[in-house]
Amino acid sequence: MARTPRIIAEPTTVSLADFDPADTDGWKKTEAKEEIEKLGAQIDELEDLLVYAGKHGLLILVQGLDTSGKGGAIRTVLRFSNAQGSSVATFKEPTEEELAHDFLWRAHQKAPRRGAITFFDRSHYEDVLVVRVNELVPEEVWHTRYDHINNFERLLSESGIIILKFFLHISKDEQGQRLLAREEEVEKAWKLSVGDWKNREHWDEFVTAYEDVLSRCGTPHAPWHIVAADKKWYRDLYMLQTIHAALEAKRAEWMEALEAIGKPRLAELKAYRAKKGQ
Ligand code: AMP
Ligand code: MG
Repeated sequence: MARTPRIIAEPTTVSLADFDPADTDGWKKTEAKEEIEKLGAQIDELEDLLVYAGKHGLLILVQGLDTSGKGGAIRTVLRFSNAQGSSVATFKEPTEEELAHDFLWRAHQKAPRRGAITFFDRSHYEDVLVVRVNELVPEEVWHTRYDHINNFERLLSESGIIILKFFLHISKDEQGQRLLAREEEVEKAWKLSVGDWKNREHWDEFVTAYEDVLSRCGTPHAPWHIVAADKKWYRDLYMLQTIHAALEAKRAEWMEALEAIGKPRLAELKAYRAKKGQ
């Protein structure tokens, strides 16, 4: 069976059944944890270059079914992220104001500027996921949105924004266990929501909606990554590896930009010293 690659960078047909949510790519937990720390330290350094060079922004978009670990994954990456340059945008049920605008309005406002890193915890993709499954708008409306999304992401990309999109892929069993854990542990109960159990009844429809998103909205400038997410440590490792590779690819360009900023400053300082020494 020809398997779809887990990085989707062009239109294709994705079937999530082809992907094992418990995959760990041969990694063991202890080694993965060490690698996470190493990659994290490098990401920390590379993000500084991104922020100070100011040539690119970074959008890390995270989607997944309820309990797939969006918040946890973002917290892990944030632990290594430039504090001044990073922010998290969460996408909840739209407000009246948001609903009165086009569906991309709120996403566009929250998109990062060059020199900044923004995490999207859910995103404009909800408008072809929950909105579709719960029939909040007619099909004629949500169906046009894939093209709008692709165009929007192309605009961001051509404006210097690096876009990484992660779909956290969990199994239905794992979701069941995580939901029950929330009921059993008082410390996790704050995460409880009847809506999660209601959504679970629509598991298959969400899977279909996600497969359409992955099939239609993976592009070279904004690829989708299908992340095996049953094991939280592997999910974190995969995301850090991906972020690291994307940033590393820009290192030389950012160093050059920083040198260009540094040269006139050095010259100015030298001139100042020379004048003082007169
Ligand atoms: P949570 O991420 O658990 O805080 O929940 C946020 C809720 O907002 C989820 O149930 C989402 O499905 C819902 N949501 C996010 N965006 C939209 C949208 N565009 N339309 C309707 N519901 C949404
Ligand atoms: Mg939730």
